[in-house]
Amino acid sequence: MSSLLEEFQQVGRDLYAAGLVSSHGGNMSVRQGEGLMITSHGSRLGHLAQVDLVEVRPGLEPRVEPSMDLALHQAIYAAASEAEAVVHAHPRHAIALSLMGEDIRPQDLEGQHYLGIVPVVPRGENVAQALADALRQHRIVVVAGHGSYARGESLWQALQWTSVLEESAEVLWLLRVLRHDT
Ligand SMILES: [Zn+2]
Repeated sequence: MSSLLEEFQQVGRDLYAAGLVSSHGGNMSVRQGEGLMITSHGSRLGHLAQVDLVEVRPGLEPRVEPSMDLALHQAIYAAASEAEAVVHAHPRHAIALSLMGEDIRPQDLEGQHYLGIVPVVPRGENVAQALADALRQHRIVVVAGHGSYARGESLWQALQWTSVLEESAEVLWLLRVLRHDT
């Protein structure tokens, strides 16, 4: 059985290798009872070490600065009981589509099967609550012009929804190009 660190490392490497995050972009966490384990502020997901994982729980002073998205992760765990892990990435085609002012509706089989409609929530003050609310019903949600937040039973599953979303978003983009050409 792989350790928690290994899961963070392998999922982080895959996210980076697939171009789903930039060198220092994105973040990930795993629920741990009343608290969570989250990547540190500014860590490189493609090159995580033990020092890059921060435990956050009531009554414990974090060892290093957690990701700036900590409050979003906490809101997601509070709202969505299914969430055992959260992956935040910057999938570029999905980000571009999120700026078109509507939810993302996959047209490919895998996207339709696993994701259905992917809500897009606006950036702004209430983003944490809007995101957490949407993740009660949906496996992955996009914050407009920023990136995706996926919840899963594990980091691997949250990675899967992120990867499926980006594939669907790229297909949607290609479709737009093709339709424009004909
Ligand atoms: Zn981000």
